[in-house]
Amino acid sequence: MENMYQNIFDTHAHYDDEAFMEDQDTVLSGLKDKGVTGVVTCGVDLLSSANVLKLTKKYDILYGALGYHPEKADEERKGDLELIGELLESEEKAVAVGEIGLDYYYEDGAPKETQIDLFQRQIALGNDLDIPVIVHDREAHEDTMKILKDMKPKGVVHCFSGSYEMAKEIIKLGMYIGVGGVVTFKNARKTVEVVEQMPLEFLVLETDAPYLAPTPFRGKRNDSSYIAYVAERIAEIRGMDPQEILNITAENAKRLYNL
Ligand SMILES: [Zn+2]
Repeated sequence: MENMYQNIFDTHAHYDDEAFMEDQDTVLSGLKDKGVTGVVTCGVDLLSSANVLKLTKKYDILYGALGYHPEKADEERKGDLELIGELLESEEKAVAVGEIGLDYYYEDGAPKETQIDLFQRQIALGNDLDIPVIVHDREAHEDTMKILKDMKPKGVVHCFSGSYEMAKEIIKLGMYIGVGGVVTFKNARKTVEVVEQMPLEFLVLETDAPYLAPTPFRGKRNDSSYIAYVAERIAEIRGMDPQEILNITAENAKRLYNL
């Protein structure tokens, strides 16, 4: 089915993840033939950000986001963010600070104060460089919104899991809403509501590959070509043509990342 569509832009993936180690080249070099025209692959710490940069040099459709994921907040060393800032400034295909944010899901995760401090410093970095940030918000809606309203970065809230009310506030800040495989799940009532009502010019599509593969591949390894299934579901919700959804969201993605 994937070959039916073109202009697929994946605004959030993790192609340096170990899930791709064995066949990374096969997967990445095959994406173009499946209609994928752009992918932003995200770092989760310094090493992963360096690996992301390597991938962007090897594959023309790949762009990179560099940053520290909240799950890695405890591992940040002095000087890491300065280095990430230098790379963001000097590397042409590094287009965003990410993946950054707050994750209150894990009880043994980094303390909230550590996460908030790192999140704020990375938003400041994005603001300084005038580039977008890619925000991860898991069970941390209140603190995330407070910080976004306060610091007003450009960017996207990825794998959006909030209400339509929250989506409206994000859009009011000029930020984009990232939607992926979750919208195809049976229990996706809230995400469906958001996609149904939000202005399409603020919607971008994503995989979060290797995670969150859409139905009918739920639980399997995800890749950017599966965005076709996300577009089909959104098209069904909005009463539109899937290719039209892909075209609009690809344009949005390019605007988001200044491409
Ligand atoms: Zn991610």
